[in-house]
Amino acid sequence: MTDETEADLTGATPRRRPKPSADKVGDRKLKPSTMMMGHGYDPMLSEGSLKPPIFLTSTFVFPNAAAGKRHFEGVTGKRPGGADGLVYSRFNGPNQEILEDRLGIWEGAEDALAFSSGMSAIATLFLSMVKPGDTIVHSGPLYAATETLIARILGRFGVHWLDFPAGATREEIDAVLSKAASGNVALIYLESPANPTNALVDVEAVAASRDAIFKGASKPPIAIDNTFLGPLWAQPLKQGADIVVYSLTKYAGGHSDLVAGGVLGSKEHINTIRLMRNTIGTICDPNTAWMLLRSLETLELRMSRAGENAAKVCAFLRGHEKVEHVGYLGFLEEGSRQADIYNRHCTGAGSTFSLYLKGGEKEAFAFLDALKIAKLAVSLGGTETLASHPAGMTHLSVPDARKQALGITDNLVRISIGVEDADDLIADFEEALKAV
Ligand SMILES: *Cc1c(COP(=O)(O)O)cnc(C)c1O
Repeated sequence: MTDETEADLTGATPRRRPKPSADKVGDRKLKPSTMMMGHGYDPMLSEGSLKPPIFLTSTFVFPNAAAGKRHFEGVTGKRPGGADGLVYSRFNGPNQEILEDRLGIWEGAEDALAFSSGMSAIATLFLSMVKPGDTIVHSGPLYAATETLIARILGRFGVHWLDFPAGATREEIDAVLSKAASGNVALIYLESPANPTNALVDVEAVAASRDAIFKGASKPPIAIDNTFLGPLWAQPLKQGADIVVYSLTKYAGGHSDLVAGGVLGSKEHINTIRLMRNTIGTICDPNTAWMLLRSLETLELRMSRAGENAAKVCAFLRGHEKVEHVGYLGFLEEGSRQADIYNRHCTGAGSTFSLYLKGGEKEAFAFLDALKIAKLAVSLGGTETLASHPAGMTHLSVPDARKQALGITDNLVRISIGVEDADDLIADFEEALKAV
């Protein structure tokens, strides 16, 4: 509202703003799944259209010259408060802004940004935070393209990195952070659970270690890739992370029909990242934003069903004579450190897991080729069940020693369970195991 008063004083006519949508009924604060249907969109600004139209435009008309000047005063820092409203589609658009408002709600984040892919989100985050000579401390392993980005691409620009294993204890994390603290640590970057080991990162321990070792302005933010469990089963801002990163291609998009990314966090961090996104144009397009709005309406339904299905399928697989081991977060050994992290950080075991068959590549391929419902494809988090062979596909180029260390053996099959009927899926796996 202060914006509008200010605009009136400068003679600029502000654009009409959406009527704020309800986030409460009486004293009751509404749940994210309810807010996904309307939050951040006022139908009366779009001819009463129940759903937001897709705004296919590269630029936006100013109501008058003073409003145009006012906008650029905000962009250039001549007026406090930053950019105001819409001006050019590399910066933002109505569909993306509604999406960002809704994305943040799931984790109670102050602000959010949408990107053209998970990797463009991660790359934009890194570019906005690091400079030559800085160090990124990260958990390992990371999504392969993220590791490439840190070591091989940022490395070319003089950025250093140090890592600790995803399941590391407080002492192990302390040791790596203390070592890194002799230089300038720009960012602590986590991914939990790690793929394909499923090892969970103790975010609380990382935050406590960071706070003990770094003081004041030298304190690096903690960012975490929450693609595998978020936003339904893990909300790492609650455990002390500052920034949450998503490949929205996976569970958030959820229908295997789009590629997108997201970043959530405080207004301060998000504004730093937004400046980089505005410069390089890694925002998602309006059509993808619209599809994601549709996806978010069913996010809880889809993830809940997929999680229930995975629990049933894993219970079946665990007891099967041709199965060596099922790496599923629902089966952590009681009293173990991983189970302790799980109990403090997670509200569900997800629907992506590792299936180790008895045998090797021959057995794994026979199983994969016999599946009738599950599709043979990489990726995860869609409505349909997918299965893949990491050693021969996503991780083919990983050196053998590292593959062994990560448990990427020839008998490993990665499975992402969808929202089909659980008993149909079990029948599919039962028949395919007969072919092994
Ligand atoms: C898929 C994925 C990414 C990359 O996301 P894209 O949308 O494919 O760019 C990053 N992190 C994790 C954990 C992923 O699964």
